[in-house]
Amino acid sequence: MQYLSTRGSAPVSAAQAIINGICPSGGLYVPEQFPQVPISELRQNTGDYLSIAYKIISPYLDTPKHKLQEMLISAYGRNFDSKLITPLVQLSERESILELWHGPTLAFKDLALQLLPHLMCDSSAQIKENKQIYILVATSGDTGKAALSGFQDVNGTKIQVFYPYGGISRAQWLQMVTQEGSNVAVCGINGSFDDAQTAIKKVFGDEAIRNKAEKLGYRLTSANSINFGRLLPQIVYYFFSYLELCKTGCITFNEPVNYCVPTGNFGDILAGYYAMRMGLPVNRLICASNRNNVLTDFFNSGIYNAKRPFYKNMSCSIDILISSNLERLLFEVLNRDSIRVSGLMQSLNQTGEYSLEGDIQAQLNNSFYADWCCEEDTLSTINTCFNKYGYLMDPHTAVAKTVLDQYSKEGDRPIHTILLSTANPFKFATEVLKAFELPDNDDFKNALRLSALTGNPIPGSISKLMNAPVLHNKVCDIHEIPERALEIL
Ligand SMILES: *Cc1c(COP(=O)(O)O)cnc(C)c1O
Repeated sequence: MQYLSTRGSAPVSAAQAIINGICPSGGLYVPEQFPQVPISELRQNTGDYLSIAYKIISPYLDTPKHKLQEMLISAYGRNFDSKLITPLVQLSERESILELWHGPTLAFKDLALQLLPHLMCDSSAQIKENKQIYILVATSGDTGKAALSGFQDVNGTKIQVFYPYGGISRAQWLQMVTQEGSNVAVCGINGSFDDAQTAIKKVFGDEAIRNKAEKLGYRLTSANSINFGRLLPQIVYYFFSYLELCKTGCITFNEPVNYCVPTGNFGDILAGYYAMRMGLPVNRLICASNRNNVLTDFFNSGIYNAKRPFYKNMSCSIDILISSNLERLLFEVLNRDSIRVSGLMQSLNQTGEYSLEGDIQAQLNNSFYADWCCEEDTLSTINTCFNKYGYLMDPHTAVAKTVLDQYSKEGDRPIHTILLSTANPFKFATEVLKAFELPDNDDFKNALRLSALTGNPIPGSISKLMNAPVLHNKVCDIHEIPERALEIL
């Protein structure tokens, strides 16, 4: 499979797209076409996660069969605490929850970041590159730890993560600053995720910096969802959960379903759109936001306007105003017209906004529905779902559930919805406890209290953080990011 740039350039191989991460032009890599994987074909399979993953991922890569199978086993074989990898829990007749947080860092990012190091090393070998890979990551809270955990002590790689200082949960922060490994660095920034992502994209586009890194023997790349290698593994669980629903008899074979996704950088939900393009029967993709509701406005008006106040929310991993992967969706709905995409992105960079024609917006609304919710509603959903179903959810999942309730009120046909649960609630113990009572100042006390109150166990990787030494305490300003990026080489 070859990969094109959303902003136009000569096609490259899968290996090159994964190693580059982002095009030198600033565009994002997209597959030349969407391989068709009929679900009837998947159903003949054993239906386990690994075999579905192989069927979905292999047409996108030039990796030999045995090699890809080995990589999948290393990524998913032992590192998840559920045999199903992403178990599906039925909430009610028309709603199921897809738990994407059974990996080592308790958020859905593990599904991609346990595999990405293998994809990168394989890609590096395929293009016969002799440089080390240096991964720069901007995180809104969860990507950072998942990437650190995936790349820790992986030969031939180095990684540095930038996170918004004071803008993430206590557990997310501790997970990162206590990270061990000889090839890892973590740095807070005085700014938001958007600031970090924009600064890092600039670093990737800066030839002088790239050259400096290359002289030192490193190739810069990205482990954010701007890297196609991050998106690819995320397509798998859309298919997997659909087949699970068929197995339980909740839906008949080929019946369309909705997926409801708490959305920030638009990576997770875009993987759902790609699954749909590959043949998965999807009715609607429901895009859920918190008070940073730039995507809600975009889907409802056709205008993307990032010039607005930024709010810090309990669902901090979706505190994002510039959703990078929307560029890939625009590329598809604009009939792959890279000149028009470049124009829109230029407008976004220069004026902070862009707008689409009415017919394109209408077309988007056939496949997408978007809405948002406030903090009070997020808390009240956590409380209600626990009392009604005995199900404890994290603030991101609660944002999605609230939006789904709003959507269902609008009277769609009774279509089954799979709600993507993106993090374990104990990653946000203090925030989740607020749904039940006034929390303490101490995050660990709150986790204990939440566990006692709900009967859910505290995950071992969270209790371990209590006594782990802080190893990374650097914090820098946004303009220092380029310098800091090179400093550790
Ligand atoms: C990253 C993240 C999201 C948003 O995913 P995107 O791909 O950025 O849209 C949602 N919830 C949690 C818990 C996350 O970590």
